[in-house]
Amino acid sequence: MKRDILIHPDPRLKKLCAAVPDISDEIRTLAKDMLETMYAAPGVGLAAPQVGVLTRIISLDCAKQDAEPPQAPEPLIMVNPEIIAASDEMNVYDEGCLSIPEVYAEVTRPKDVRVRWLDLEGSEQERDMEGLWATCVQHEIDHLDGKLFIDYLKPLKRQMITRKMQKLKREKARG
Ligand SMILES: [Zn+2]
Repeated sequence: MKRDILIHPDPRLKKLCAAVPDISDEIRTLAKDMLETMYAAPGVGLAAPQVGVLTRIISLDCAKQDAEPPQAPEPLIMVNPEIIAASDEMNVYDEGCLSIPEVYAEVTRPKDVRVRWLDLEGSEQERDMEGLWATCVQHEIDHLDGKLFIDYLKPLKRQMITRKMQKLKREKARG
C-alpha cells in the first residue's frame, strides 16, 4: 500500500529514529509499502520517517532505469543501516528529496562508503557503495538522524527553501 510522504517542514522529519529491535510482520509490511511509495513517487530512496514512521529503515534503488539499455530494478531494504567506513575522497552531487519536492542543491559527501545493515530475514549484510548509491545511502541514513540535505546548505538558502515548502503546503491544504 502506498503511503503519504511528509513534506518539510514537519517535526517528524527532525527526529532521531529508533533502531528496529526485531523484524516483525509490521516491519515487513512497512518495507513493502516504502518500496511501493518510492517507485510511485518516483524516487531512488526513501526513509521510514518520510512516511511518518520513526524507525531505522530505508529503501533504495539507484539502478538506472532510464539508461540504454535500462538496468534491471534493484530494490534494497536496509534495517538499522550504518556507515562503517567512508573514503577521504569526496563527491559533489545535485541532491533532491521526496520531502522537499522540486528543490535540488549540490551536497558534498564521501565518494565511497561501506554500509552494514540487517535484511528482512534478520541477516547482517555489508556492501561497498559508490556513485549515486553512495550518495543516496548517506542521504537516507541522515533522515534516520533527523537530518535533511538542506541542512548542509548555507542558512539563508535553507530558509528560502523552507519558506517555499511552507507556501507549497499551504496551497496543498487549500486544495
Ligand atoms: Zn530525502
